[in-house]
Parts: sequence; structure tokens; C-alpha cells
Amino acid sequence: MKHLLTKAGILCLIPACTFMPNEDKKPNIIIIYADDVGYGDIGAYGATLIPTPEIDKLAAGGAMFTSAYCMASTCTPSRYSLLTGKYAFRNPDAQILPPDAGMILEPGSGNMAEVFRNAGYRTGVIGKWHLGIGDGSTDWNTEISPTPLEAGFDVSFVIPSTNDRVPTVWLDGNRVHNWNENDAPLRISNNRQIGNLPTGRSHPELLRYPADGYHSGTIVNGLGRIGFMDGGQSAWWDDEMLGIEILERSQEFIKDSQTEPFFLFMPLHQNHTPRVPHPRFVGKSGIGLRGDHVVEIDYIVGETIRTLEELGLRENTLIIFSSDNGPVVWDSYYDGAIESGQDHIPNGPFRGGKYLVYEGGTRVPTIVNWPARVKAGTVSEVVLSQVDLLTSLSRLVGAVIPEGAAIDSQDHLEAWLGESENDREYVIQQGINMFAIRKGDWKLILAGTTPAWVDHRHNNYPNPLSTTLPSSELHSLYNLADDPGENHNLADTYPEKVKELLALLGENLPGIIGK
Ligand code: CA
Repeated sequence: MKHLLTKAGILCLIPACTFMPNEDKKPNIIIIYADDVGYGDIGAYGATLIPTPEIDKLAAGGAMFTSAYCMASTCTPSRYSLLTGKYAFRNPDAQILPPDAGMILEPGSGNMAEVFRNAGYRTGVIGKWHLGIGDGSTDWNTEISPTPLEAGFDVSFVIPSTNDRVPTVWLDGNRVHNWNENDAPLRISNNRQIGNLPTGRSHPELLRYPADGYHSGTIVNGLGRIGFMDGGQSAWWDDEMLGIEILERSQEFIKDSQTEPFFLFMPLHQNHTPRVPHPRFVGKSGIGLRGDHVVEIDYIVGETIRTLEELGLRENTLIIFSSDNGPVVWDSYYDGAIESGQDHIPNGPFRGGKYLVYEGGTRVPTIVNWPARVKAGTVSEVVLSQVDLLTSLSRLVGAVIPEGAAIDSQDHLEAWLGESENDREYVIQQGINMFAIRKGDWKLILAGTTPAWVDHRHNNYPNPLSTTLPSSELHSLYNLADDPGENHNLADTYPEKVKELLALLGENLPGIIGK
């Protein structure tokens, strides 16, 4: 009771709250944010070789968007934009983070968890974080700060970085989960061998499957990782259980959140490499581990929904299912995904994937399901960007965004609920050393020299994914209505269009592109 009174006291300080009709009518919000899942990986979006009945049902029962974009084609920048409502390029630290990076969300700056919490929400993050932990010189054997707990989340149970990076431990609040004082201290390094545990380089015979040199650091569960780790063995996770752990902790969070509205951010680690689905999903797609991982995602979605139904929370829970960036088939681990992929096309009708700003890298499956309001069977082409979710959802839940926060996030609530076909005026997309802007049907790509490792990944795609990297196509212009696969560069035919879009991009990226 005391807790509720305190919360009510805080709420009354927020001017907008006085206009909120009825506190208990606020919807619960769950964002299920898959990792590296492509447009073509989901049945509702055209996949025929991977069964995704639960996600398909979610799409059929709500709104399915066919022109929705993540902000970037890699993980850290995309989730940074989603949570802060700012383009990632505004923060030079919002790049794919190394294992030992400090947290890049500035506590108190008005991210999604903070503003929803101020609007009366219980907030949780369960899954892959990859926005940095601690101050950059973290001692993993003691209380760690800052963590998501300092960034507005009441509950935090996270993979600190990614599943291909050390430390391969869960962080429960401010502490390493299952940390044991009898172990040697847990220490990590991004690029320096520490301790003398086997690495992918020194002991390739211990590997479940091999990887490139960068992913040949300390071996955990038969897989080399990015970085080196020593000590803390009791806390090391079991890769097979990562998905189930996310599911069960999420179910627990939902069960514990029945007296107040909740916001659950569920960033799944699947389909990120190394792919180690729970044994019950192995072989279930028939197209190898990459497909099996998607089947596991589908199961997690289904079980999360079942929990909501059992608790009578389904009707007023808004679920958003999407991905942080497009697909990649080979991402450093030789897990057989290319060989076993058959005719499955992870990027659907588009070109490219993760790391690139072709449509395959940034146009992601996006489903919004809220039985109480979103009309079942809605299929919409409206152009959306994840950067707008913070401002759009804030209006829905009566949250107030502090001055100076979420500067790139626009209110497109009705579009996100499938009630309006008003496109975002333009969408900016960020890749590795490349940017794109889409306005109407036109899309301009501005590319620097793409690093060799990105090139290498996309040369390994099966034919429909193969892409000629654009170092020779500095400015390429496509008309997505006629050419969704971005095959016909029209830059020479429409120089005025190039100029217009370049100027618009330049207004947003001063310093990166001259005005
Ligand atoms: Ca990702």
C-alpha cells in the first residue's frame, strides 16, 4: 500500500497524468525484439520452410506491417534508437559494442523504460541487452553499476552483451546470476588473453563447430567467443537454455505485474550466432540450426501469449513483435546454415541483410497485436520507423517525454495501431559505413567503403541474397514501388532526386555529410 501511495504521489507531479482517464485501462506493453530475424523468416511474411504458427496467429489477430524499419542494420544502434527515440549516429558510442563496453544509455535522460515508469508502469527487460554494462571497467564479482536497473527498468535479467561475446553469464539486476565465491574471480577482456582456459585458437578440437579468428576466444559450451574470460565458472550460462530462460523469467515478470500496467522489453538472442537451440527444437525446421532458432522464437511467442491468456491479461496487452536488423546466414560460425538452408530466403523479396542498408537489412517483420483496440486482419504498407515507438506509445500511455529527450521520435500512434496510412515523411537507415533515406517510394543509399568482413558475409549468401557491395555506387537511387529488390540504380537518370534526398540526409547528419 505504501508503495502504491508513493507511486501515486509521483504520478501526480506529472501534468499529463491528470488527463489520463482511468489508470487501469492502460494497456500492458510487451516488445518482443528478435535478433537478426529477416523479413522472409516468418510464415506470415512469406516463409514456407520454417513453421511459425504462433507468430502468424499474432499477425492475423492484429496488424501486420510490410514497410516498417529498424533504425539500423546492427544491434546496438537499433536498440539504442528504439529505447531513446534518437538516431544512433547522434551518439558516437552507439556502435556494435565490444564485450567490456560501459553502458551507453545515460540514466535519467528519458528512455522508454524511464518515461513509462513515470507513467505508472512496472518495467522489465529480460533478454539480450548489448547497450553496455557498468562504467567500462566493470568488476563482475561485485555489485555492478550502471545496469538497466539504473536506466529505468524495475526488473533486469540480461545477457550483458551478445551470445557470441564474453562474459557468457546472466546479469540479474546488479549482480552476476549464480556467481559463486568459491570460483576464481570472473574476469574478461575484449582482445587480450587472460587466464589459461582453452580458446578456439588453442584447442580447435574442443569446438562444437569452428568459427573465424575473431570468434575464437575463450571456449564456452564448445563454442569460441569474441573475447577472453577467466573464472566465474558456476555462473557460465548453458546456451541451450538461453531462450527458455528468457521465456520463464518473462512469464514470472508478467505474473508478478498484475496489479499495475507493465512494460516488458523482451530482446531475444535468437537468431544471433552461435545458434544453439534447445534440443527440443533441433531439426524442427528441416533447414538447419538457423531455421530451428526461428521455431524456438515462435514457441517463446506462443508460450508468452498463453501466460497472458491464463492470467486474463491478453485483451489489454499490446504486443509488438519485430527484429533489430535483417538476417545474416553466415555470421562467423560454421554452423551449416548455408549448406542446410535449402530454398529458404531470409530477406524475402529484398536485397542484402544485416550490416547493410538495403531493404533486407532494415525492413523487418513488424506485428502489432492488441485485442482491445487493434483490428484483427489488418495488413498495412504504412512506412514506419522503430525510432517513433517511444513518442507514439507515450501518448498512448500518458507518459511525458522530458525536454531534449527522444528528439528524433515522432508521434505516429495511429499508424502503429493500424488505423492510419499516413507514412512517416522519411525514414533514415544506418548500416556499417553506409546510410540510406527513404521518402515515399524513393530510396537513396550513400555508401562509404564497406569493410571486407561485411563483404565476406554477403558473398556467402545463397543467390537471392548476394549483393554487389556499393563502394562503386556511392550514391544509388532506387524506386521501391517498381524495384523493391533494389536492382536498378536510377541515380544517373534522376540527379535532382539524388540531390533532394542527399540534402535531407545531410540536414540530419551534419558533419557526416556536408550540408
Ligand atoms: Ca542483431
